[in-house]
Amino acid sequence: MPTLGIIGAGPIGLECGLYASQSGWDVEIFERDRVGAHVRDWGHVELFSPWRLNRSPWSEEALRDTGLTLGHPDECPTGREFVQRHLEPLAQLDQLAGSVRTGTEVVEVARQHALKDEYIGAEGRSGGPFLLHLKGDAGETYARADAVVDATGVYHEPNGLGPGGLKAVGETSHRDRIAYDIPDIGGDDRTKYCTDTTLVVGSGYSAVTSLRQLAELRRQEGQPEIIWLRRHPGAPYEIIDDDPLDQRRDLSEWGNAAARGEIDGIVPAVGIVESIHSESTDGPLEIGLDQSEHPSLQVDRIIANVGYRPDNSLHRELQVHQCYATEGPIDLAATLLGGDSTDCLEQEAAGADALANPEPNFFLLGAKSYGRNSSFLLKNGFQQIRDVVDGLLPEFDAA
Ligand SMILES: Cc1cc2nc3c(=O)[nH]c(=O)nc-3n(C[C@H](O)[C@H](O)[C@H](O)COP(=O)(O)OP(=O)(O)OC[C@H]3O[C@@H](n4cnc5c(N)ncnc54)[C@H](O)[C@@H]3O)c2cc1C
Repeated sequence: MPTLGIIGAGPIGLECGLYASQSGWDVEIFERDRVGAHVRDWGHVELFSPWRLNRSPWSEEALRDTGLTLGHPDECPTGREFVQRHLEPLAQLDQLAGSVRTGTEVVEVARQHALKDEYIGAEGRSGGPFLLHLKGDAGETYARADAVVDATGVYHEPNGLGPGGLKAVGETSHRDRIAYDIPDIGGDDRTKYCTDTTLVVGSGYSAVTSLRQLAELRRQEGQPEIIWLRRHPGAPYEIIDDDPLDQRRDLSEWGNAAARGEIDGIVPAVGIVESIHSESTDGPLEIGLDQSEHPSLQVDRIIANVGYRPDNSLHRELQVHQCYATEGPIDLAATLLGGDSTDCLEQEAAGADALANPEPNFFLLGAKSYGRNSSFLLKNGFQQIRDVVDGLLPEFDAA
């Protein structure tokens, strides 16, 4: 039986593993941390898509068969509930049990018999297995696979805070006072944000989620003002007519009100961070901005919700043709960039061909396949899985 190596036991890695095993593949899923590690990191945040969009038809059926009570199709789980009620049970299904190797990082993938610059566009490239360089508690080793899916997401690769995506001057040395995720401000991280002046940078849904938690904390504890820095003036969030996702509409309306200065305690500002400086390890941070009207700010902490990018070092020895703007696989990136709608719910499936790489039998799926484009939704990932397993993986004689 041929082996499919899947990198990442997030939602897409696990869903792909189940679908491929049902199609006769011998699946191995390598996860550097725990099942659903990235989702756990934002476990306190409620997903804006309801359960019915967050699980595939095949995982729903498999979990129902075990007698598990599934989340109501129209309710939105938190990230934590999603892990506990879906991802963990998925990893424990008979079809996957024993196939998920947690605590096992894939450092790099290559072809056993070919260097990156060999067999260019030639059939011989698929003539041997992939080698996955693994690193875990037991040390280093290689695993072999006939096909590989990279579903490692982007959540641990934040963009820089400075101009043009660079790190700001002093950003790295003040790393301990910068959060690049959505901190659990109402829970575990509460004490950190109770008394400090916080600067939130960014204008996506993560930024507005962080701001909303900070505003609630301020309402409860009366902590100092919160400064919200964006690169551009105006309303940051598009309000979609009759938006079927209530959570998204609420966040967008609240975010636009905050950007107009209508939310108590949130001070909106426009500019780009160029430098971060402090006189002592716990003294205030002097933030140098790129503009002359308000050239600097003084804060205690920063939440940098400035987007994420894929870690491409994993497949640098393979032949992957990537978009020079988004860093997603080129054909998929072109389809996404060419789409008319700004609503991620309305994205058309890009189709199997858009997921094929010059490297035969190597596929980027899930959030990582969108590169720096943040519009990925799980439901798009389920279609990707079908496209790859049914249409692109090599056929084999299951007997
Ligand atoms: C705050 C927030 C809210 C969101 N809300 C929604 C929503 O409501 N609906 C929706 O559809 N989407 C939502 N998303 C998008 C969401 O990220 C994805 O839908 C989902 O997590 C993507 O799944 P994935 O499996 O592609 O990647 P991830 O969930 O990022 O999983 C990747 C996995 O790979 C592992 N990994 C990474 N590198 C390695 C390596 N080298 N070796 C081995 N393992 C590795 C990681 O530890 C992780 O477990 C949200 C995202 C965020 C940040």
